[in-house]
Amino acid sequence: MTTDHPFPEFSVREINVPVHALSRFEPLIGEERYGELRRVAALTSHRLEGKTVWNLSSTAAGGGVAEMLQVLVGYIQDANIDIRWLVMAGDPEFFYITKRIHNRLHGAAGDAGELGPNEAAHYTDIMAANLVSVMSRVRPGDLVLLHDPQTVGMAAALAEAGARVIWRCHVGREGSNEWTDEAWWFLRPHLAHCEAYIFSLRQYVPSWMDESRVQVIPPSIDPFSPKNQEMFQGDVIRTLRRIGLLEGGGAGAPATFTRRDGTPGHIGRRASILPEGGPPLDPDAPLVIQVSRWDRLKDMTGVLQGFASSMVGRVDAHLALVGPSVADVTDDPEEAEVFAECVSALEALPADARRRVKLVTLPMEDIDENAAMVNALQRHATVIVQKSLVEGFGLTVAEGMWKAKAVVASSVGGITEQVAFGTGILLADPTDLPMFGDTLAELLTRPDQIAQLGARARQHVLETFVGDKHLLRYAQLIEWLVS
Ligand code: UDP
Repeated sequence: MTTDHPFPEFSVREINVPVHALSRFEPLIGEERYGELRRVAALTSHRLEGKTVWNLSSTAAGGGVAEMLQVLVGYIQDANIDIRWLVMAGDPEFFYITKRIHNRLHGAAGDAGELGPNEAAHYTDIMAANLVSVMSRVRPGDLVLLHDPQTVGMAAALAEAGARVIWRCHVGREGSNEWTDEAWWFLRPHLAHCEAYIFSLRQYVPSWMDESRVQVIPPSIDPFSPKNQEMFQGDVIRTLRRIGLLEGGGAGAPATFTRRDGTPGHIGRRASILPEGGPPLDPDAPLVIQVSRWDRLKDMTGVLQGFASSMVGRVDAHLALVGPSVADVTDDPEEAEVFAECVSALEALPADARRRVKLVTLPMEDIDENAAMVNALQRHATVIVQKSLVEGFGLTVAEGMWKAKAVVASSVGGITEQVAFGTGILLADPTDLPMFGDTLAELLTRPDQIAQLGARARQHVLETFVGDKHLLRYAQLIEWLVS
């Protein structure tokens, strides 16, 4: 491959992830389940001898894909498998196009822009630019996992070079509409070069796809990551004081956590919190949170409005809408706009509701610290909401359930797979804001129900969505491909 293409400045960068010992799982999942994990890990390592498994994604931080790769890559390395993670680069136009595809795979118009020949040409140019640095690394016989629409355009060149190409799609929608059709039309020529496809849910597989090449692998959480590790109550409170959410901050011992590489970390940075100058919250006041990227399909403004109209005068609770600092998620051009919509919605609230709502953006410079902040927020919350309008999977739901929290979430996409009967509350119609507000207000008056839902939720996640299950499903796919 030559560098004769219009964007020589874009190339991939490798993300180094600390190795995580698989043995950490043993006390949590028990001897039998752990034994199976070790057996399959050894077999897979043997099958992949001499080969490298490459992951290609569009961002190293922010969002569910980065969250999972940060830990899975580390565990797979411990299984003696040469697995690497590369993050591609692109210009704003490219990310507008891929965000459009992302929205349409969810069945939504997004910015309603074109997905025609011009967009296809630009997409291909950015792929060609990144491919130069990818091709210098990948060897024939290597496995390449292309994550999401942003990277699938590299499939043809990689397959031609003798790599085994798999596409992993982290988004989706049950059934098709004109928007999903358009997104698939754009992606199909690239998908034709993949040998296998991974979806989070069976319902997301498009009807024209060869089912025999599809593997369903739901995402998982890592119980030991800074996002989900156990935290002393004192550290939870100290973290939330330090970031500026709870009152009583200032001098005193800093909050601590364990980084992914096992070294100790301290919470040093503050969050940016609106309304500016608003008083920090009383640590004893009930807190409802939704943690999401600033994406319209997460419906942060709907959460704010539903909360504000139902809670005031009924329950003495607060709401925190939490997301990454808007300057830091590079693959999503819509986030600043969506955040601005939340600010307007906050400003439009009557004063008594406004003082109960906080818009919190968390610093992303240090992703372990960011994860520990999310961990503390989820642990401090009385109820965790995920009122997405559509949702590929919704890792924040499993994260909340793992922390034994009562979750109120939309009955859409992967959320319905996670919230089994009796482990949380599903909202049949996420656009019904009065119903959402009532459900939340009612639940907040029932501490026993909150505790019961939370206990069942944690057990359900342990049985179904802890990382060892994910690794076993990957191993099955590799066995199918290699044998
Ligand atoms: N997240 C985070 N920091 C933030 C906001 C979100 O680490 O400020 C994480 C969140 O905890 C979750 C992931 O980003 O692990 C979002 O994944 P999810 O599947 O819920 O949604 P996606 O972003 O993939 O649509």
